[in-house]
Amino acid sequence: MPLITATQLSKSFALTSDDTVRVLRDVSVHIDAGEFVAVTGPSGAGKSTLLHVLGSLEVPDHGTVRYHVDGRELNVASLGATALAKLRNRHIGFVFQFHQLLPEFSAEENVMIPMMIAGASRKQSRARAHELLELVGMMHRHEHKPQELSGGEQQRVAIARALVNEPDVVFADEPTGNLDSVNTAAVLDLLRGIRAMRMCTLVIATHSAEVAAAADRVIRMKDGEVLA
Ligand code: ADP
Ligand code: MG
Repeated sequence: MPLITATQLSKSFALTSDDTVRVLRDVSVHIDAGEFVAVTGPSGAGKSTLLHVLGSLEVPDHGTVRYHVDGRELNVASLGATALAKLRNRHIGFVFQFHQLLPEFSAEENVMIPMMIAGASRKQSRARAHELLELVGMMHRHEHKPQELSGGEQQRVAIARALVNEPDVVFADEPTGNLDSVNTAAVLDLLRGIRAMRMCTLVIATHSAEVAAAADRVIRMKDGEVLA
Protein backbone atom coordinates (compact mmCIF):
# COMPACT_ATOMS: atom_id res chain seq x y z
CA MET A 1 0.00 0.00 0.00
CA PRO A 2 1.46 3.38 -0.93
CA LEU A 3 1.92 5.83 1.93
CA ILE A 4 3.72 8.65 0.09
CA THR A 5 3.70 9.30 -3.64
CA ALA A 6 6.01 12.12 -4.68
CA THR A 7 6.26 12.96 -8.35
CA GLN A 8 8.70 15.10 -10.30
CA LEU A 9 9.94 17.15 -7.39
CA SER A 10 12.30 19.96 -8.15
CA LYS A 11 13.76 22.60 -5.92
CA SER A 12 16.39 25.29 -6.39
CA PHE A 13 17.96 27.75 -4.00
CA ALA A 14 19.12 31.19 -5.10
CA LEU A 15 22.72 31.72 -4.03
CA THR A 16 23.08 35.21 -5.54
CA SER A 17 20.85 37.18 -7.91
CA ASP A 18 22.21 35.27 -10.92
CA ASP A 19 23.36 32.00 -9.40
CA THR A 20 21.02 29.21 -8.29
CA VAL A 21 21.72 25.67 -7.15
CA ARG A 22 19.30 22.95 -8.23
CA VAL A 23 18.98 20.71 -5.22
CA LEU A 24 16.24 18.38 -6.45
CA ARG A 25 15.94 17.60 -10.15
CA ASP A 26 12.78 15.84 -11.17
CA VAL A 27 12.79 13.39 -8.27
CA SER A 28 9.95 10.87 -8.05
CA VAL A 29 9.74 8.65 -4.98
CA HIS A 30 7.15 6.16 -3.77
CA ILE A 31 7.16 4.93 -0.22
CA ASP A 32 4.99 2.03 0.87
CA ALA A 33 3.44 1.78 4.32
CA GLY A 34 5.72 -0.21 6.61
CA GLU A 35 8.89 0.14 4.54
CA PHE A 36 12.27 1.05 6.01
CA VAL A 37 13.95 3.13 3.30
CA ALA A 38 17.48 4.53 3.50
CA VAL A 39 18.44 7.60 1.45
CA THR A 40 22.16 7.67 0.75
CA GLY A 41 24.53 9.79 -1.31
CA PRO A 42 27.41 12.22 -0.90
CA SER A 43 27.12 15.40 1.09
CA GLY A 44 25.22 17.99 -0.95
CA ALA A 45 23.31 15.33 -2.94
CA GLY A 46 19.96 16.66 -1.75
CA LYS A 47 19.06 14.09 0.93
CA SER A 48 18.03 16.58 3.62
CA THR A 49 16.05 18.65 1.13
CA LEU A 50 14.24 15.53 -0.10
CA LEU A 51 13.33 14.54 3.47
CA HIS A 52 12.10 18.05 4.25
CA VAL A 53 9.98 18.18 1.08
CA LEU A 54 8.57 14.66 1.65
CA GLY A 55 7.94 15.55 5.28
CA SER A 56 6.01 18.73 4.34
CA LEU A 57 8.56 21.00 6.05
CA GLU A 58 9.66 22.57 2.75
CA VAL A 59 7.68 23.37 -0.36
CA PRO A 60 9.02 22.14 -3.73
CA ASP A 61 9.20 24.53 -6.71
CA HIS A 62 7.52 21.89 -8.85
CA GLY A 63 6.03 18.47 -8.29
CA THR A 64 3.59 17.03 -5.80
CA VAL A 65 3.72 15.09 -2.56
CA ARG A 66 0.69 13.00 -1.73
CA TYR A 67 -0.03 11.14 1.48
CA HIS A 68 -2.39 8.20 1.61
CA VAL A 69 -3.66 8.30 5.19
CA ASP A 70 -6.98 7.66 6.95
CA GLY A 71 -8.31 6.15 3.72
CA ARG A 72 -7.80 9.42 1.86
CA GLU A 73 -5.29 10.94 -0.49
CA LEU A 74 -3.92 14.27 0.71
CA ASN A 75 -2.00 16.54 -1.65
CA VAL A 76 0.33 18.44 0.68
CA ALA A 77 0.26 21.57 -1.53
CA SER A 78 -3.51 21.85 -1.32
CA LEU A 79 -3.70 21.71 2.48
CA GLY A 80 -4.48 24.83 4.48
CA ALA A 81 -2.38 25.76 7.52
CA THR A 82 -4.54 23.83 9.99
CA ALA A 83 -4.68 20.65 7.91
CA LEU A 84 -0.94 20.84 7.28
CA ALA A 85 -0.20 21.27 10.99
CA LYS A 86 -2.44 18.30 11.69
CA LEU A 87 -0.72 16.14 9.06
CA ARG A 88 2.67 16.94 10.62
CA ASN A 89 1.51 16.43 14.19
CA ARG A 90 -0.50 13.22 13.71
CA HIS A 91 1.07 11.43 10.78
CA ILE A 92 4.72 12.48 10.55
CA GLY A 93 7.65 12.26 12.99
CA PHE A 94 11.03 13.90 12.48
CA VAL A 95 14.42 13.06 13.93
CA PHE A 96 17.23 15.46 13.03
CA GLN A 97 20.99 15.01 13.14
CA PHE A 98 21.18 17.40 16.05
CA HIS A 99 18.29 16.25 18.22
CA GLN A 100 16.49 19.64 18.46
CA LEU A 101 14.96 18.79 21.83
CA LEU A 102 13.65 21.79 23.76
CA PRO A 103 16.46 22.62 26.20
CA GLU A 104 14.32 23.92 29.06
CA PHE A 105 12.17 20.78 29.24
CA SER A 106 12.96 17.33 30.63
CA ALA A 107 13.21 14.23 28.43
CA GLU A 108 9.74 13.21 29.57
CA GLU A 109 8.24 16.63 28.77
CA ASN A 110 9.92 16.72 25.36
CA VAL A 111 8.20 13.43 24.49
CA MET A 112 4.85 14.55 25.97
CA ILE A 113 4.58 17.91 24.18
CA PRO A 114 3.52 16.72 20.67
CA MET A 115 0.86 14.50 22.27
CA MET A 116 -0.50 17.38 24.34
CA ILE A 117 -0.54 19.54 21.20
CA ALA A 118 -2.63 16.75 19.61
CA GLY A 119 -5.15 17.19 22.43
CA ALA A 120 -4.26 14.41 24.88
CA SER A 121 -4.33 15.08 28.62
CA ARG A 122 -1.15 15.55 30.63
CA LYS A 123 -1.80 12.23 32.37
CA GLN A 124 -2.25 10.26 29.11
CA SER A 125 0.73 11.99 27.56
CA ARG A 126 2.95 11.20 30.54
CA ALA A 127 1.91 7.53 30.51
CA ARG A 128 2.65 7.25 26.78
CA ALA A 129 5.97 9.11 27.20
CA HIS A 130 6.98 6.62 29.88
CA GLU A 131 6.16 3.68 27.59
CA LEU A 132 8.30 5.16 24.82
CA LEU A 133 11.17 6.18 27.10
CA GLU A 134 11.13 2.56 28.30
CA LEU A 135 11.21 1.39 24.68
CA VAL A 136 14.24 3.54 23.84
CA GLY A 137 16.00 2.65 27.11
CA MET A 138 15.79 6.14 28.57
CA MET A 139 13.19 5.83 31.32
CA HIS A 140 15.89 6.03 34.01
CA ARG A 141 16.77 9.53 32.75
CA HIS A 142 13.24 10.83 32.17
CA GLU A 143 13.62 13.83 34.45
CA HIS A 144 16.88 14.99 32.90
CA LYS A 145 17.18 17.98 30.61
CA PRO A 146 18.74 17.47 27.16
CA GLN A 147 22.07 19.05 28.11
CA GLU A 148 22.45 16.51 30.91
CA LEU A 149 22.28 13.65 28.39
CA SER A 150 24.89 12.32 25.96
CA GLY A 151 24.42 12.74 22.20
CA GLY A 152 23.22 9.15 21.85
CA GLU A 153 20.79 9.54 24.76
CA GLN A 154 19.42 12.77 23.30
CA GLN A 155 18.88 11.01 19.99
CA ARG A 156 16.99 8.17 21.69
CA VAL A 157 14.71 10.73 23.38
CA ALA A 158 14.21 12.43 19.99
CA ILE A 159 13.16 9.05 18.54
CA ALA A 160 10.67 8.56 21.40
CA ARG A 161 9.30 12.05 20.72
CA ALA A 162 8.93 11.31 16.99
CA LEU A 163 6.89 8.18 17.82
CA VAL A 164 4.58 9.64 20.45
CA ASN A 165 1.56 10.28 18.23
CA GLU A 166 1.90 6.93 16.44
CA PRO A 167 2.89 8.58 13.14
CA ASP A 168 2.59 6.75 9.84
CA VAL A 169 6.13 7.74 8.95
CA VAL A 170 9.27 8.88 10.75
CA PHE A 171 11.88 10.79 8.76
CA ALA A 172 15.33 10.71 10.30
CA ASP A 173 18.06 12.92 8.86
CA GLU A 174 21.45 11.35 9.60
CA PRO A 175 20.32 10.28 13.08
CA THR A 176 23.70 8.67 13.77
CA GLY A 177 25.77 11.28 11.92
CA ASN A 178 26.88 12.87 15.15
CA LEU A 179 27.40 9.68 17.19
CA ASP A 180 30.30 7.37 18.00
CA SER A 181 30.18 3.70 17.02
CA VAL A 182 28.69 2.50 20.33
CA ASN A 183 25.83 5.00 20.18
CA THR A 184 25.36 4.38 16.45
CA ALA A 185 24.89 0.68 17.22
CA ALA A 186 22.34 1.49 19.96
CA VAL A 187 20.32 3.79 17.68
CA LEU A 188 20.51 1.24 14.86
CA ASP A 189 19.19 -1.50 17.19
CA LEU A 190 16.35 0.80 18.11
CA LEU A 191 15.50 1.47 14.44
CA ARG A 192 15.59 -2.26 13.72
CA GLY A 193 13.25 -2.82 16.68
CA ILE A 194 10.82 -0.16 15.40
CA ARG A 195 10.88 -1.89 12.01
CA ALA A 196 10.39 -5.34 13.54
CA MET A 197 7.40 -4.15 15.58
CA ARG A 198 6.00 -2.48 12.45
CA MET A 199 5.46 0.70 14.42
CA CYS A 200 5.76 2.98 11.39
CA THR A 201 7.39 3.57 8.04
CA LEU A 202 11.00 4.78 8.33
CA VAL A 203 12.81 7.05 5.87
CA ILE A 204 16.38 7.65 6.94
CA ALA A 205 19.05 9.75 5.28
CA THR A 206 22.37 8.24 6.25
CA HIS A 207 26.07 8.01 5.54
CA SER A 208 26.30 4.85 7.59
CA ALA A 209 26.69 1.64 5.61
CA GLU A 210 25.32 -0.26 8.63
CA VAL A 211 22.14 1.79 8.73
CA ALA A 212 21.69 1.43 4.96
CA ALA A 213 22.24 -2.33 5.27
CA ALA A 214 19.40 -2.55 7.81
CA ALA A 215 16.94 -0.93 5.37
CA ASP A 216 14.53 -2.78 3.06
CA ARG A 217 15.44 -0.48 0.18
CA VAL A 218 18.06 2.15 -0.57
CA ILE A 219 17.42 5.32 -2.57
CA ARG A 220 20.75 6.60 -3.89
CA MET A 221 21.06 10.30 -4.66
CA LYS A 222 23.66 12.35 -6.46
CA ASP A 223 23.53 16.00 -7.55
CA GLY A 224 19.83 16.28 -6.79
CA GLU A 225 18.84 13.17 -8.70
CA VAL A 226 17.81 9.69 -7.68
CA LEU A 227 20.12 7.14 -9.27
CA ALA A 228 18.47 4.12 -10.83
P1 ADP B 1 22.57 16.55 1.72
O1 ADP B 1 21.62 16.41 2.84
O2 ADP B 1 22.57 15.38 0.78
O3 ADP B 1 23.95 16.87 2.16
P2 ADP B 1 21.15 19.01 1.14
O4 ADP B 1 19.76 18.67 0.77
O5 ADP B 1 21.38 19.51 2.52
O6 ADP B 1 22.09 17.76 0.80
O7 ADP B 1 21.73 20.13 0.19
C1 ADP B 1 21.88 19.98 -1.19
C2 ADP B 1 22.48 21.27 -1.75
O8 ADP B 1 21.56 22.34 -1.52
C3 ADP B 1 23.76 21.68 -1.11
O9 ADP B 1 24.60 22.17 -2.12
C4 ADP B 1 23.36 22.77 -0.16
O10 ADP B 1 24.40 23.69 0.04
C5 ADP B 1 22.19 23.41 -0.86
N1 ADP B 1 21.22 24.00 0.06
C6 ADP B 1 20.45 23.32 0.95
N2 ADP B 1 19.64 24.14 1.63
C7 ADP B 1 19.90 25.40 1.14
C8 ADP B 1 19.38 26.70 1.44
N3 ADP B 1 18.43 26.89 2.36
N4 ADP B 1 19.91 27.74 0.74
C9 ADP B 1 20.84 27.54 -0.21
N5 ADP B 1 21.37 26.35 -0.53
C10 ADP B 1 20.90 25.29 0.14
MG1 MG C 1 21.88 16.51 4.86
